[in-house]
Amino acid sequence: MTLLAFTNAFAGSLLDRAGEKRRDPEWMAARLADPAARAIVLWQGRPLVREDAGAAARLAFLEGPRARSLVGGRDERLAFLGLNGSAPVLAVELEGAADPAESMLEGLGRFEELRALAAVLPVEEAAIAACAKSLFDWRQRHRFCSLCGQESEIADGGWKRACPVCKAEHFPRVDPVTIMLPWIGDRCLLGRQAAWPKGRMSALAGYMEPGESIEEACAREVKEEADLAVVRVEYHSSQPWPFPSSLMIGLFAEVAHDQATPDGVEVEEVRWFTRTQVRQMLAEGEWDGIKPAPPFAIAHQLLKAWAAR
Ligand SMILES: [Zn+2]
Repeated sequence: MTLLAFTNAFAGSLLDRAGEKRRDPEWMAARLADPAARAIVLWQGRPLVREDAGAAARLAFLEGPRARSLVGGRDERLAFLGLNGSAPVLAVELEGAADPAESMLEGLGRFEELRALAAVLPVEEAAIAACAKSLFDWRQRHRFCSLCGQESEIADGGWKRACPVCKAEHFPRVDPVTIMLPWIGDRCLLGRQAAWPKGRMSALAGYMEPGESIEEACAREVKEEADLAVVRVEYHSSQPWPFPSSLMIGLFAEVAHDQATPDGVEVEEVRWFTRTQVRQMLAEGEWDGIKPAPPFAIAHQLLKAWAAR
């Protein structure tokens, strides 16, 4: 049976992660060495895409043994992403300052920013590239055991780090972020961060804190960033966001009044828009000089779903 859920960019992988099996070292060693394995390649967080796919970008897949040889057989820089049928799908991470697409991988493709690829890669390919990027980011940032400081060792095909001294086990991080569209009656509120491209306004957002429910985090962020009181929180969808490993939790936040004030720190400007204005903004790419977030961002999908109500 198919999962009935709204799928944002970076979700929608078709692979079987084989979570139960990948804990078995023998099974995992056989998958990593499987001649039928295929591997994607990342360098500086960017996936290798094929040169020959034209405007419709496609990931470049290498044969497993070749990919493994690129990292000198070091499983530290190899990740098991899952099974496609019975064939393992892997990812390798290349290091160094020089672009490998101009040396060892010449002719196979080029490395491109995942953010830019999100709009053009097939859904399932963007999802596995995002997964690999988050896993490798975690590996780089968490090399040492956070309990005793010893360098930890990779296990479970890249999904765990085990400390050889204190025996602690560490798992990849996912950092939840609430992202919400405040609304009242027939209007919704968008905010603007100073760093955004000219004219861009989008949903409010913020990291969740320990001891908070999703609803409480949403209400706190809306209060902090726009000085509005949330009275009802409604879930829309979620999005893995591999920069480096967030999970965006998309929400509609009904508010008690419309006296919004930006905090002047994270949000420099807030503005109310009617449903008609938002529909026009989405249909034409802008309204009164204001542009929404791009379609691969959950903020765009929130706005679109609200406008369609
Ligand atoms: Zn330790």
